[in-house]
Amino acid sequence: MSPHLLSIDSLSRDDVNHLIRVAARMEPIAQRRKITRVLEGAVLGNLFFEASTRTRVSFNAAFCRLGGTVCDTTGFTFSSMAKGESLYDTSRVMSGYCDAIVMRHPDQGSVAEFARATNVPVINGGDGPGEHPSQALLDIYTINKEFTRLGKTLNGAHILLTGDLKYGRTVHSLIRLLSLFGPMRVTLVSPPGLEMPAALIDTVSARGLQITSRDNLNSDFSDVDVVYTTRIQKERFTQEMSEGFGVLSRDFTVDLAFLNQRCNNNTIVMHPLPRDSRPEANDLDVDLNGDPRLAIFRQTDNGIPMRMAIFAKLLQVEDQIEKDLRDVRWFVPKTIGVDDAGF
Ligand code: ASP
Repeated sequence: MSPHLLSIDSLSRDDVNHLIRVAARMEPIAQRRKITRVLEGAVLGNLFFEASTRTRVSFNAAFCRLGGTVCDTTGFTFSSMAKGESLYDTSRVMSGYCDAIVMRHPDQGSVAEFARATNVPVINGGDGPGEHPSQALLDIYTINKEFTRLGKTLNGAHILLTGDLKYGRTVHSLIRLLSLFGPMRVTLVSPPGLEMPAALIDTVSARGLQITSRDNLNSDFSDVDVVYTTRIQKERFTQEMSEGFGVLSRDFTVDLAFLNQRCNNNTIVMHPLPRDSRPEANDLDVDLNGDPRLAIFRQTDNGIPMRMAIFAKLLQVEDQIEKDLRDVRWFVPKTIGVDDAGF
């Protein structure tokens, strides 16, 4: 595995399986039953130049749960980039302060450019419409856990990716990752103009994914194992697109009726979040909130053990985790959310 995590393409299937195994060993810590101090003294630099809740906070929490501390900066306004500082200079400066760096930036390729100026491990927390590799890793970790519970395997699975497949970086990373685990069927459903880039479809097809593309959800998806739906990435639209493209049509909404009528009792629903819960957005419907097939919060919870595993691997402490485990001493509720399924 490379010293950085910039793209899924730097990972082999063995690397991913290894990260899944390390993440599973992180569960007692992520679930707040055990404490480790294996990264005591280490400092993470969290550089977020785009909006983020989950990625920024979960990388932060994952590093803290390993015993490290975090320095955070958000937005361009309060960073020296607003004074014209280059990615090269920022990278070198931050590397003098931090042992690992997570960076999110609106420009595709910018995190890779930043990483070229440092020997400190850099994790791509999202580079514009490019990639979001840690999200794909927590997604595959989630799929793997859900499939184990349901007695399924990834081999031969049918995955439906829907929404903004053009600008959605999470699906760009996820489809690359799925292509390491084929043979598998992937159906792509997006509104016209927001299709998955053709070059990416060619790449993953050549690796053995069987891809079908559609422009609506009005089909029989009763053999689909995972519905992975995404938000329209309006912030990446050109002026012209924003004018011609108001909101997602209701036809693309994944809701209880869609799941009951077109999918099956074991189809799981995922979303990288945030879902746009304004009614006019027609994003993933809240009427699924009490349905155990909705895996979105199990998915966000899984961000912690997977991001801990990524840090442990890049900072080479994964063999030391179990050595200094202690019991948690504070109150932890039995289930975290009020609608959580009992598994
Ligand atoms: N949180 C994800 C991302 O940063 C998905 C999204 O914003 O829609 O790419």
